[in-house]
Amino acid sequence: MRSGILENYQDLLPLNERTPGYSLCEGSTPLVHLRNLSREMSIDLNVKFEGLNPTGSFKDRGMVLAVAKAVENGARALICASTGNTSASAAAYAAHAGLNCYVLLPSGFVAKGKLAQALIYGAKVISITGNFDKALELARDASREFGLAIVNSVNPYRLIGQRTASWEICDELGKSPEWLFIPVGNAGNISAYYAGFLKYRSLGRIARIPRLMGIQAEGASPMVSREMIDHPETIATAIRIGKPVSYTKAVKAVRNTEGAFISVSDDEIMNAQKMLAQKDGIFAEPASCATIAGIWKLFLQGDLPSGISVTCILTGNGLKDPEAPMKYLPDPVEIEGDWMSLKEVLNK
Ligand SMILES: *Cc1c(COP(=O)(O)O)cnc(C)c1O
Repeated sequence: MRSGILENYQDLLPLNERTPGYSLCEGSTPLVHLRNLSREMSIDLNVKFEGLNPTGSFKDRGMVLAVAKAVENGARALICASTGNTSASAAAYAAHAGLNCYVLLPSGFVAKGKLAQALIYGAKVISITGNFDKALELARDASREFGLAIVNSVNPYRLIGQRTASWEICDELGKSPEWLFIPVGNAGNISAYYAGFLKYRSLGRIARIPRLMGIQAEGASPMVSREMIDHPETIATAIRIGKPVSYTKAVKAVRNTEGAFISVSDDEIMNAQKMLAQKDGIFAEPASCATIAGIWKLFLQGDLPSGISVTCILTGNGLKDPEAPMKYLPDPVEIEGDWMSLKEVLNK
């Protein structure tokens, strides 16, 4: 039987005999070689498709550990604020662990698939006016006042669990990639990758840490402008965050690896989503595609060295947010259901 990250990386995670061994088989996601985009940009491009985790995003890695530790410490209920994927994951693992779960969502800015997930897994979903940053503030207050375990990335176990993705990449490649592109919202994941690579280097499992390239959406790019933003805006709702909790950690991760923060426009993101799907057959959600937009931008500017090995983190599944690409994709061709009509279309 397949196992999850708690079993696969038990020696590197803070587990003890009282930690429940939860698993929805998160992790072990594929590293897919993009043959067409690699050729076009003259690089060796692999994507870590985190959209194939149990709830369709990388959030499951940190969530399984956060929920296990919460139960170990006697928690009866969870709370989180979310742009969608954290709530989907929290709700699923709460069900798995038999806990109640409260989620706070910014009203109107959560992709349909993600909202459906939180509801079907049985979370108490509370929609608030205001953005993610406000929702997080409220969740923190509620956690304090009501003794609920908060499972946002302010919970240290989330980021520790998320390190496992960096280890899987190194285990599979037998070394680290040269460059790593990752979307940045609350800046937790990029910090987790950095910590994961540091750990592997200290264990002698890799020689070098990749150059970390953090990609943000133009309307929500506090890491690029080095200034918190009150009203973040982007079609990539998973990274629609103006005040990243892990700001300082992420700055350090990028500085210490000679990486960079780059911003890309919503048009560039949606174009990259289509390019990834139509050239290489992978459908990832808009936030994930910010990474492809970032690589493509560097390539067009002549700033992408040829021959380098690049890994790109596709953080979430495209099926979570079908409405985003449907806004610009053409409608299907409609015909009468008869042979003559079909022939006419195929002859065009
Ligand atoms: C949460 C999330 C991100 C952003 O990760 P941070 O740790 O907040 O920087 C990016 N993409 C997807 C799909 C996400 O769910």
